[in-house]
Amino acid sequence: MSIRKVVKYGESSLRQPSKEVHKVSQKIKNLVEDLLDTLYAQNGVGLAAPQIGENYRVFVIDVSTGNEPLNPMVFINPKIIKKSGAVISHEGCLSFPEAFTDVKRYANVMIKALDSHGRSFVLEAKDGSLLARAIQHEFDHLDGVLFIDHVINRFEADKVLQEHNLPPVEVDKILDEPELTAEIEEIKAKQVEKETKESKENA
Ligand code: ZN
Repeated sequence: MSIRKVVKYGESSLRQPSKEVHKVSQKIKNLVEDLLDTLYAQNGVGLAAPQIGENYRVFVIDVSTGNEPLNPMVFINPKIIKKSGAVISHEGCLSFPEAFTDVKRYANVMIKALDSHGRSFVLEAKDGSLLARAIQHEFDHLDGVLFIDHVINRFEADKVLQEHNLPPVEVDKILDEPELTAEIEEIKAKQVEKETKESKENA
């Protein structure tokens, strides 16, 4: 199939919710192929259909690295059925070229979806793994939600966005995530404690 143009942050279509797939037709299979071709061409980890201008509830992920064989995973009409724990995730997005910032994520997720043959499957990803974080990131795209909506420090994020000639964080879109925020604060406090201890040991 073909490598498609990736929609960049600032374009309104990234904020549109996507529609359910009624049938895993040839058209949807072609869309999946295009998503994978575009993902690999960009060396990405995940890509959602709205990022190539197709507002369908479809995304692809491949967390294989280096010499590992490719491991394309396809999610159609996904539902996150369980989530727990919190983790700080340093993320980027193909719609935000080269811009990375820390965001709040669940550490563990369970997702139910259809694969490219229309078969239902359930997958669990744990311990803040790349897969667990990528699932949440790509799932969000289907609802017009972007990774910066989970930002931990919006001033830091704005700096990074500016450096990459991208529009600033949309403050009104930042999600209130009390269930994650408390745990993230604890993780950050522990990091500071560890760094202080290390710098004392090195002194
Ligand atoms: Zn993204």
